[in-house]
Amino acid sequence: MPDISVKNIKGVGAKTAQYLDKLGIRTVNDLLKHYPVRYLEYKPPTKISDIKKDENRDEDVVIKATVTKSPAFVGSNKKVLTTKLTDYIDVIDVIWYNSAYLSVTLRQGESYIFVGKMSRRSKNTLEHPAIYTVEEYEKKIGGYKPVYGLTAGISNNTMEKLIKTAFEYIPKMDFKEYLPQYIIKKNSLADRESAVRNIHCPMNKTALFDAKRRLSFDDFFRFLYGIRLLKDKRLRIKTKNIITDDKNTLDEIKSVLPFKLTASQDDVIEEILHDMSSGIVTNRLLQGDVGSGKTVVALICLYMAVKSGFQGVVMVPTEVLAKQHFKSMFDILSKLDKTPNLGILTGSMTKKEHLLMYEKIESGEIDILVGTHALLVENVKFKNLGLVVTDEQHRFGVRQRSTLSGKGDNVHVIVMSATPIPRTLAIILYGDLDISTIESKPVGRLPVKNAVITEKDREKAYRHILLEVKKGHQAYIICPMVEDSENIEAENVLDYAKKIADKFSQNCKVEVLHGQMHQKEKDDIMLRYINKEIDILVATTVIEVGVDVPNATVIMIENAERFGLATLHQLRGRVGRSVLQSYAIFVRTSNSKLAKKRLEIIGNSNDGFYIASKDLALRGPGELFGLAQSGEPDFGIADIYNDNDVFDMAKEAADMIQCDSIGDYERKRLEREIDSYMDLHYKKLAL
Ligand code: ADP
Ligand code: MG
Repeated sequence: MPDISVKNIKGVGAKTAQYLDKLGIRTVNDLLKHYPVRYLEYKPPTKISDIKKDENRDEDVVIKATVTKSPAFVGSNKKVLTTKLTDYIDVIDVIWYNSAYLSVTLRQGESYIFVGKMSRRSKNTLEHPAIYTVEEYEKKIGGYKPVYGLTAGISNNTMEKLIKTAFEYIPKMDFKEYLPQYIIKKNSLADRESAVRNIHCPMNKTALFDAKRRLSFDDFFRFLYGIRLLKDKRLRIKTKNIITDDKNTLDEIKSVLPFKLTASQDDVIEEILHDMSSGIVTNRLLQGDVGSGKTVVALICLYMAVKSGFQGVVMVPTEVLAKQHFKSMFDILSKLDKTPNLGILTGSMTKKEHLLMYEKIESGEIDILVGTHALLVENVKFKNLGLVVTDEQHRFGVRQRSTLSGKGDNVHVIVMSATPIPRTLAIILYGDLDISTIESKPVGRLPVKNAVITEKDREKAYRHILLEVKKGHQAYIICPMVEDSENIEAENVLDYAKKIADKFSQNCKVEVLHGQMHQKEKDDIMLRYINKEIDILVATTVIEVGVDVPNATVIMIENAERFGLATLHQLRGRVGRSVLQSYAIFVRTSNSKLAKKRLEIIGNSNDGFYIASKDLALRGPGELFGLAQSGEPDFGIADIYNDNDVFDMAKEAADMIQCDSIGDYERKRLEREIDSYMDLHYKKLAL
C-alpha cells in the first residue's frame, strides 16, 4: 500500500499529527493498523429499576429515558450539571462535568439513550453518560464501539472518526488479496478489506470474530511462510562441511562414557549426525528437560566434528558452567587413545591468557573450545570451524548465536535448551530450526520429592537436610539476595550462611557462592563442592543453569515466591541428577494468593511443560520463562498463546502452498507480500 502521511487527512492539523506521532501513527496505513484494544457492546436499554438493583458498578449501563427538566448547574462554578431522568416507572439522577452546552441542547420532555457508569459515590446517580438520540442508538444495537489506545490530546471519538476517514484514502486495489483463492475458501477467511473495516467498526459479533480471525491468520501466515522461505534458502545451500557419521568413531567415544546412553539420546545423536553428514547446513534445536543429559550429546557431536577435521565450539551463559563443561568433557575425552585438544575461554581470564588462547584457536591447535560470551569477540578466529553448540540457548539472543556461527563457513549449529515453551512459541522462536527432543531422563532417576513450607517448618527442613548430609549427600540453600538490604525483606546469602554454619557447626561444612565473588573464589568453591569438601552451599541463583553435581540431593529455596516458576524449575533441576532420591523444599514467606498458587504449581509437578503452561496463564506471555529479551517477534492482533486454531490453520496453509503448484503470477504476488512483511518486521530475526 502506498503510505500517505496522516497530515493529508481531512481534519488532521499539525497538533493532531503530533499527538498521533506519539502513538507511532504517521501514515494512513499506521492508522488502519491501530486496532482497538477492546470493544464496548451497544446493548439494548435496561429499566432504571433494574439498574438500581444491580450490584455491579463496573459495567456501562444503557437507559432510554426522558429528561424531566433541562439540566442545571450545581454551585456557582458551572462545572457540574445535573437533572433527573425517568422511564415513567422510576427516576434517576444524572450528572455531567464540564459540559455546559448540555443545558441548552438537552431538551425537557425529550427522550434519549444514555450510556455510562453508575456513580460509586451515590447509588442513584448516573455519571457523565454519553447521549444518543433514540433513532441513532437503535441502529447501533448489537454492534460494537471500538476502544482505542490513546494519548493526551486525542479522544476515543476523534480516533474513531480519523480511522473512518482514513478508509477514504486507501484505494480499493490496496486491499487486493495476496492469498490464493483456494486458501481463502478452505479456511472460510473474510476478505481483507472487510476484515480491516470490521475490526474498527464491527457490524456485529460474527463480523468482529471473522475480522479478528482473518487478521490473525495473516499475522501467522506471513510469518510462517516467511520463515519457510528462509529455511528453504538454507536447505538449498550445499556445504562441503560434512561431518561423517562414522560408526567406529561413534562406538569409540561411546565406549569411554561412564554410562550407557539412553535410547532417547541415541535417537537424537542419530538425527543430528544424519543432518551433519548430508551436505546441507544443520540448524537444530536440541530440547530436553533439566537433567535429561544434553551435554553428552553435544560432546559426542563435537567429537565427531573433530574426527572429520573440524573445530567445534560450545558457548554457555556462565563461567561456572563453562568450567564444569570443560571438566566433564575433559574427563571423558582423556580416556580416548588420542585425546582432542580442549580449550576454554572466559571473561575472567587474564589478557595474556586470552591472547594465547586466540592464537591456539586460530592456528587450529584447539579442537574443541568451551566458553562464555567471551567467545563472541572479534579476536576469536577459527582455522576451520565446523560446529557451534549453544547451551541454555534461551539465555542468549538470536544474534549472538549467529555471531558465533559467522566465524566459519556454513557452520552446523545446534542450540540446546531445557526451557519448555508452548509449541506455537517454539515454532515462532525457532521457526527455521529442526527440533530434536530428548524425551526421557536416564534410567533409575526417581522424581524429585517436593515440599512447599512456611517459615514455621524451617526447623523440620533443616533436620531433613542434616539427615541427607549424614548420608554423605550434599545440599543447596538458595537465597534471593547476596547481602542484607534496607529496602528488601528477603534472605541473603551472607547472613544466612553464618546462621546455618553456627547452627550446624559440628556436623557440616557450609560455604557461600554468589555473583559478586571473584571468579577464582567461585571456581574454588565449586570445585570443593564437587569434591564433596562442602556439605551445604548457600548460594544465589548463580547455580540456576546447568550446574551438575549428582551427589547433591536437597535444594531448599528461601523466599521462593520471589522467583519465577521457570527459575524454580531450573533450580530444582540441580538435584535429582543421579539414582539417589532427591528433595526440593520451597519456603513460602508471603501469604498472597498468587504466591500460594504459583508455589502450588511447582510443588505439584515436576513437568517443565506443564509448569510453563501454568506460568503463562498466571503471569502472561511477557514474562514467560524470561523470553522477553530473546527476540520474540511481536504480532499485531494475533495472540500467539491463545489462537492455536488459527495458528494451525495458517501453518497448514503455509505447508500446503509450499508444495502446491499455484500459478507463477499468484506465487509472485504472495512472495512479494511476504518479502515486504519480513523486511518490515523481522530483520532482527536474521536467523
Ligand atoms: P542437562 O540436560 O540438564 O544439561 P546434563 O547433561 O547436565 O543434563 O546431565 C545430567 C546428569 O546426567 C549428568 O550428571 C550426566 O553425566 C548424567 N547423564 C547423562 N546421560 C546419562 C545416561 N545416559 N545415563 C546416566 N547418567 C547420564
Ligand atoms: Mg545442561
